[in-house]
Amino acid sequence: MMKHVLTTCPYCGVGCGFYLDVRDNRIVGVIPSKSNPVSKGYLCVKGWHAHEPVQHPDRLKKPLIKQNGKFKEASWEAALDYVAKRLSQIKAKYGPEALAVCTSARCTNEENFLMMKFGRACLGTPHVDHCARTCHSATVSGLNQSFGSGASTNSYDELPFMDCILIIGSNPTEAHPIVGWRVRTAIDNGAKIIVCDPRRILPAENASIYIQQYPGSDIALINAMINYIVTEHLHDEKFIAERTEGFDELWEVVKDYTPESVKDITGLEPELIKKAARLYATNKRSCIMYSLGMTEHTVGTDNVMSMANLAMVTGHVGKEFSGVYPMRGQNNVQGACDMGALPNVYPGYQPVTDEAVRKKFEDAWGVKLPSKAGFTLTDMMQKAIEGSLKCFYIIGEDQVRTDPDTHMIERALKSLEFLIVQEIFLSETAKLAHVVLPGASYAEKDGTFTCAERRFQRVRKAIEPLSGKTDGEIVCEISRRLGYPIDPDPKNALDEMASLTPIFQGVSFERVDTNGLQWPVPSKGHPGTPVVHLGKFRRGLGKFMPIKNKPPAEVPDEEYPFILSTGRMLFHYNTGTMTRRVSNLLREYPRNFVQMNPADAEQLGLKAQGSRVKVKTRRGELVVAAEVTDKIKKGVLWMPFHFSDEPTNVLTNSAFDPVCKIGEYKACAAKIEKVK
Ligand code: SF4
Repeated sequence: MMKHVLTTCPYCGVGCGFYLDVRDNRIVGVIPSKSNPVSKGYLCVKGWHAHEPVQHPDRLKKPLIKQNGKFKEASWEAALDYVAKRLSQIKAKYGPEALAVCTSARCTNEENFLMMKFGRACLGTPHVDHCARTCHSATVSGLNQSFGSGASTNSYDELPFMDCILIIGSNPTEAHPIVGWRVRTAIDNGAKIIVCDPRRILPAENASIYIQQYPGSDIALINAMINYIVTEHLHDEKFIAERTEGFDELWEVVKDYTPESVKDITGLEPELIKKAARLYATNKRSCIMYSLGMTEHTVGTDNVMSMANLAMVTGHVGKEFSGVYPMRGQNNVQGACDMGALPNVYPGYQPVTDEAVRKKFEDAWGVKLPSKAGFTLTDMMQKAIEGSLKCFYIIGEDQVRTDPDTHMIERALKSLEFLIVQEIFLSETAKLAHVVLPGASYAEKDGTFTCAERRFQRVRKAIEPLSGKTDGEIVCEISRRLGYPIDPDPKNALDEMASLTPIFQGVSFERVDTNGLQWPVPSKGHPGTPVVHLGKFRRGLGKFMPIKNKPPAEVPDEEYPFILSTGRMLFHYNTGTMTRRVSNLLREYPRNFVQMNPADAEQLGLKAQGSRVKVKTRRGELVVAAEVTDKIKKGVLWMPFHFSDEPTNVLTNSAFDPVCKIGEYKACAAKIEKVK
């Protein structure tokens, strides 16, 4: 008898809905859900194959304890007892601040809430963070400063009805395909698309204007657009006067950024910038869509605030059919941030340093909580190397493959006295652990994910956990052993979170059940919020941030004359832990490669596509195949980061944004050599 279990895709932040077909406790297929408000019956190629990794033979099913450098299988009892004993020993010896927890954007909201609570209330450490640090922490900090909320302002359903969509540092066709389909529908409906990207990505083929700026020159580009808009009186004076503050300070900086003056920085003809600025400003329904191409820079926060400036100058925010759409990477990275899996906030972005907020959580949880913000993930790696961080509990993340500068990350994790990794496959990070706890995939648990349009959606258990426990249950069993029992039931966890969080008060399994629910949901009867900042920004007045252009931490020089940028492809997802275990996806792109311009290839003497080349940076080197294409500018290289055997992040730069601590994946200096 076939069972069809309605759930949410575990890959990207779009949040498509599908049924898992289950027969005899085996998941045998995926069928798109026509009634899902996000995907409306469509899926991308990853979604169609989302069932395959779940029961792959490589899945971890038993805990592993390392003895004399080798993993040995252990019972749950033995492994959890051992973990609890080591956590308690390290805490007793060095204090709670020697411990840190990395929660998971792959796990549910409820599990992130439980993990965050475990870290703060049970371990007593302020050091709680997760992988948003390496993708959209710049969005959280940037949009929060400009608008008072660090999430998407509008909804996917508005996209097909836009007049103009400015896509910058984002490739929706490959990285967020079902949103890419909405953009395609907008084009069919007559929308004008502006694509700004150092690579001529697929959306550029259908764009009215394609802008191929140099990596790391986005602030100069946006400031020049604002300069032109104001000079030509295309700005929205009424909106600026009534809804914003700081315009004069912005203009003080932006007045010097004429389109002519940024030609050398951006590599762009002034007329192209003017045309784009006019198109975006003069259309009634204009929005901005961006992603990691804007956030993964040492100026990630500044990039985000620059886009907010552009939206506010033109009045294209705070109303329907406008806004700023940050396309979130992981299935539940929005939710993990929302649940307070960040070092400075509790759920709903309530500051840990606010005494009234802290007291509310202390009263609810019956313990004294840390009164200061903890380390970011970026800081944690440095603290591990320096020796003040002794123990790290990492859940569902493969930092060795995802974080910039692989060798530095390995050094940090090897410096720890105790590393616990909870994973579904033996990742490169798990290989360095002292104990590996086998986690559960999305198909083995109940809960919710929150997608990039702030929509809570249900995740439903299709089969029992292969290891016998969900991630939430594992964390709660450790907590119980440490003398702080936590209820692992996901429904209760969501209710508890909602009761403590003003913007999620009205969220519950029942209300999320059919169509999901877009936050803020401040009360039980509240219908949810498709558009935020209507009539008033969440911070009151929108704040213009005067921002000057700054170059990337590393710029090309004589020794390293290229700019290397990185990104995602349609057929793979992040480190490929799941997609490289799907034969149809692996068949399309089995190995890593570097894209380079034909002129650079000729200069190097490359005769054929696929010739082997060595890419070198100050941190490492990698031999890969060359894909010669005029989609990329001369002097620029691009690589995906999905391939564990040829890991691009040995090359990338761990220099980080000083505000949000995101690493600079999108621009570093590199050189390239022909391999004989
Ligand atoms: Fe899954 Fe994203 Fe593809 Fe939708 S677009 S099916 S959420 S990977």
